[in-house]
Amino acid sequence: MSRILGVFAAAGSMTQYSDSLNSDAEAVYCPDDGPCDAVGSSRYERVDLHCHSLCSDGSLPVSELINRAAAAGLKWFSITDHDTLQGQEEARALAAQTDDLHYVTGVEWSAVWNGVLVHLVGLDFDPNHPASQTAATRQLRARRKRAVRIAQKLDRNGFSGVEDWVRSEDAPELPGRPHFARHLVATGQIGSVDQAFRRFLGAGKAGDVKSHWPEMAEVIDWVHAAGGQVVLAHPQRYKLTGRKRRQLVADFAEAGGDALEIAVPGMPPNTKQLLVELCVDHGLAGSSGSDFHDDSQHWLALGQVPALPRNIQPIWEKFAI
Ligand code: AMP
Ligand code: MN
Ligand code: MN
Ligand code: MN
Repeated sequence: MSRILGVFAAAGSMTQYSDSLNSDAEAVYCPDDGPCDAVGSSRYERVDLHCHSLCSDGSLPVSELINRAAAAGLKWFSITDHDTLQGQEEARALAAQTDDLHYVTGVEWSAVWNGVLVHLVGLDFDPNHPASQTAATRQLRARRKRAVRIAQKLDRNGFSGVEDWVRSEDAPELPGRPHFARHLVATGQIGSVDQAFRRFLGAGKAGDVKSHWPEMAEVIDWVHAAGGQVVLAHPQRYKLTGRKRRQLVADFAEAGGDALEIAVPGMPPNTKQLLVELCVDHGLAGSSGSDFHDDSQHWLALGQVPALPRNIQPIWEKFAI
């Protein structure tokens, strides 16, 4: 049996995200073979295959993430920034100087399935393969185009100067919705990042523009062409009915997808059970990742993910490295 160790109150900036990519995860899940209190101990996987750096919407540099992953005693580690391969070379070089850490090339590609935004974590692929390079160029263009659309929508919804900002050198090269939220807070136009998402940037709100992303099946092909594995990121967070979620996983498997991300912090046991069943039904492997962005996510830590169920093949067993 599994245990729920803690439930956080849903209030203000202390909450977990609650938009379409981020819901139903307010409890801390732990496997039952020990207390949930130490990073890198045998009670956790020594694996974290999903996190973000300053290259996308994380707040720590690649070097700090590598230091933390090494300090946590991880064996397999990947930085999976949104739609960019920018930090990969540095991460690999720094990890090579550590004792035990195997660095896995990673990315989190944005895609659509049936009009729903989905995130696909690509792992252990060749970042210099033409398919990877074309994908990165295409996603950069899509993200920049989308950013202008988001900015225009925000300006039309009562904010000011957002388009000017996003076109200026002050904006990041690959602007994401968290950057918009932080900009609105920094310019005193909204009270908090959380509020910005709840009112303007979350699923179905004015700033939720997804028309520029490629189809899920195409993204799966990019990663496979470059020799990698594809993980459906946080399958529990998409706002879907049970039937649609099963269809998403079936289509993901049919398109050649490799694994579901099921060992993640805060997933309630019944949700995990459902995902494990879907893995088994479709012959998919499992992946583990914290989706760490920054220290304000007090409910998780880099490298702290629960163990995968024993009947699920770990995706890292399929890595070529
Ligand atoms: P984008 O990649 O630009 O579509 O932005 C999605 C990112 O926004 C996710 O990867 C999360 O990091 C972040 N996010 C989503 N929902 C929220 C929320 N409610 N509050 C804060 N950040 C969020
Ligand atoms: Mn993010
Ligand atoms: Mn994601
Ligand atoms: Mn992520």
